Amino acid sequence: MKFIDLRSDTVTMPTDEMRQAIANAEVGDDVYGDDPTINKLEKLAAEKVGKEAALFVPSGTFGNQLALLTHTNRGQEVIIGKNNHIVVHEVGGSAVIAGVQLRTLETVNGIMKPIDVENAIRVDDIHEPETGLICVEEAHGCGSVVPLSILKEIKDIAEKHSIPVHMDGARLFNAAVSLGVDPKEITANCDSVMFCLSKGLAAPAGSMIAGSKSFIDKARKYRKLMGGGMRQVGIIAAAGIIALEKMADRLHEDHENAKYMAQRLSELPGVEVVRDRLDIDMVFFRMAEDVISEKTLIEKLYEKNIKINGIEADEYRFVCHIDVTKEDIDYVIDTMKSLIS
Ligand SMILES: *Cc1c(COP(=O)(O)O)cnc(C)c1O
Repeated sequence: MKFIDLRSDTVTMPTDEMRQAIANAEVGDDVYGDDPTINKLEKLAAEKVGKEAALFVPSGTFGNQLALLTHTNRGQEVIIGKNNHIVVHEVGGSAVIAGVQLRTLETVNGIMKPIDVENAIRVDDIHEPETGLICVEEAHGCGSVVPLSILKEIKDIAEKHSIPVHMDGARLFNAAVSLGVDPKEITANCDSVMFCLSKGLAAPAGSMIAGSKSFIDKARKYRKLMGGGMRQVGIIAAAGIIALEKMADRLHEDHENAKYMAQRLSELPGVEVVRDRLDIDMVFFRMAEDVISEKTLIEKLYEKNIKINGIEADEYRFVCHIDVTKEDIDYVIDTMKSLIS
């Protein structure tokens, strides 16, 4: 029997169509600009998010850190929500690579208040760092989607102060599905965006950053600096093209499944589903330790071919994706029921 893997949407396997496209990809040396498949992917990615140009990067973390490096100067300050991926999950890279200081703001469900952003912008004072960038995360990793009106308010404030906005859009296409808008409507509120091909879109690896032509030209050079100039990378891009052309259109299924899973989980004794962060493909919930311990739950589910992560910040997170069906969800719930009783 296969494993049902609820740890993340990064565990998705490339589809058969992707494997075919990888096998047949026309490639060249991308550092020379010779790879037709990566060129096609970069053009397509730029179009999808309404930017002049786009650049392939090995991972989402790489893309975010490259964007920080490209936008800022050393010693500048970046305004960002305190629980954003760049702050919590990128190994402190912003201090090492761009050499910037993060000014972390409180959030509600991952969302910064525009007024707090405005108040955090530094004044012209010999003692203070200079504000170099504002970062937003859409969809947010805590499962919520930032409303367009908030993104617009933050972008307006940024423009007033001539500060660029970078969007960590690892799950941008999930956010677009959840808001029922074209991704371009979201990315109209940022100067640069990073999005992942390797999460719910099922490509085996890779992310994109997009922005103005001059931003991407500069980023291409810095990507080389960071060791991300790759050669026949059309092998990976071939899957990325399918991810963008086809896989974004099925994300609503994962969102529906997540809502179904949330409803089924809430049938279990001692389970409290976090209802106000159920916008995309992830379900967060708390489960009383006296019902079942974290260690027991992980081990017993594994024995039944179900993989889950441990508790983070008090919560379990189960993620739906292309390889998790509604039947799989029923099996997970039935298995959990049998473990509890
Ligand atoms: C996954 C993720 C990233 C980083 O992507 P990797 O490819 O894992 O490096 C960045 N931001 C957010 C919000 C993410 O969820």
